[in-house]
Amino acid sequence: MAIPGKSCGSCTMCCQVLEIEHFDKSAGVLCKHCVLGGGCKIYKKRPEVCQDYECDWMMERALPSTLRPDKVGTILMEDADSDEYQAVCDPSKPMAWRHPLVFKHLLAKAKEGRTVVAKAGLKAWRIYESGEVAPWA
Ligand code: SF4
Ligand code: SF4
Repeated sequence: MAIPGKSCGSCTMCCQVLEIEHFDKSAGVLCKHCVLGGGCKIYKKRPEVCQDYECDWMMERALPSTLRPDKVGTILMEDADSDEYQAVCDPSKPMAWRHPLVFKHLLAKAKEGRTVVAKAGLKAWRIYESGEVAPWA
């Protein structure tokens, strides 16, 4: 659940970067219902998959306003289909996961024992607790 005081504001990253099977939206393509920086045109009638989604920035109190996805170019999130903790990057900023604040957070997750993966389009990298990075299938 979203932390009180946090809101998406002008961020619309998840409406662009993520794949949404419900209405056949590919990853990286702006949803037809989204106004960039303005939000959802069908907010009250948006599908359940959208109602249920909140990125980790919204849910983790410790993540500061400087890590809001549109500010750093990457969404921090739990992957619904695996046990991975992911940084899913804006395709126009494929190395956004290297942002010092983002990388520090990803490293902390890796040190907690999580499988941490950064994604940009079809590319993916695993970040290990040592700070080592390697391509990830
Ligand atoms: S990525 Fe997070 S902060 Fe940005 S619009 Fe989606 S839920 Fe809101
Ligand atoms: S329907 Fe609305 S909330 Fe869902 S992806 Fe499209 S713009 Fe975003």
